[in-house]
Amino acid sequence: MGAFPPLRDDLGVMAGYHSAQVEVDVRLNTNESPLPPPPAFLAGLAEAVAAFPMHRYPDRTCQALRADLANLHGLQPEQVFVANGSNEVLQCLLLAYGGPGRAAAVFEPTYAMHATIARMTGTAVASGARADDFTLPGVEVRRVLAEAAPSVTFLCSPNNPTGRAEPKDVVEEVLELAPGLVVVDEAYGQFASWSSLGMVGDDVPLVVTRTYSKTWSMAGARLGYLLGPAQVVAALWEKAALPYHVDAVKQAAGRLALRFTDEMEDRVALLVSERERIAAALALLPLDTWPSDANFLLFRPRARAGREVWQDLVDRSVLVRDCSSWPRLAGCLRVTVGTPEENDAFLTALEAVL
Ligand code: PMP
Repeated sequence: MGAFPPLRDDLGVMAGYHSAQVEVDVRLNTNESPLPPPPAFLAGLAEAVAAFPMHRYPDRTCQALRADLANLHGLQPEQVFVANGSNEVLQCLLLAYGGPGRAAAVFEPTYAMHATIARMTGTAVASGARADDFTLPGVEVRRVLAEAAPSVTFLCSPNNPTGRAEPKDVVEEVLELAPGLVVVDEAYGQFASWSSLGMVGDDVPLVVTRTYSKTWSMAGARLGYLLGPAQVVAALWEKAALPYHVDAVKQAAGRLALRFTDEMEDRVALLVSERERIAAALALLPLDTWPSDANFLLFRPRARAGREVWQDLVDRSVLVRDCSSWPRLAGCLRVTVGTPEENDAFLTALEAVL
């Protein structure tokens, strides 16, 4: 019998990205939708599943779902790639365009999985720093891109966990300067007032990623997609995705969801108004907070350690995200916008704790 081989050296040093799964009443730590999809969606899905040819492989390249998504965004089906959550979309991108001898650029603090998936795929990470107000200085963009010549440059708009959408001129500047592909992660795109989607085209080295996990209330289904040049999309299907990686139930769920766009927009409107209500309440407490274009808010208690405040909130059955040990986020916590009742519970607990 052989011995267990050692783990790949470059994986051994990586810390995982995990959110605590603690039993609490009010769960505001993973930026999901606090509301389920409409009952008619679930009923329609159950009906579709009952009639499924489960013994057959699904449509390997998700033709119908891609046609629907292309229609939604005014693009062509050949410009749509689909995978199991937008994390898997990002993984496929880095398998195809990253890898040994190549680099991916990130501007921190940002979504930690961009760097993590880069490392998983053997891609070097070139890390730039956002300014103290978390905006992205052009001089830092130029420094990182010139030093690392990344084949993939990540932006996240709105940026998780800091909240702000990237201004259009910043995306344009990065696109102008980046020597390779620019990825704009729009997991929270529907909460923001503008999108990079309008810049997507076959001659532009830009891709925009989206997810069903947040606004579509389908985090449990694991479905995400990318809009980008047809040649990039073709490479992802042919070189990076496993055969039949998107199952038939998920494809049906993804199509069905798009028939409930009005309900999705109602949920977004509720969450945006709740976000503003929470922001106004936070402004009266002894903490620093930052404006958000997403369904979450970052804040930093002034007089107490972030970790202690996090624990005190858990003790009151409210779970938020502890970002206090992340680079450049010392003392910070992030709260997802929940239902009005959950937000009340959070604010009451936070006032008591502070
Ligand atoms: N991008 C960003 C910025 C996110 O915050 C998340 C979820 N935390 C994802 C991508 C991944 O989402 P999913 O894999 O569920 O589509």
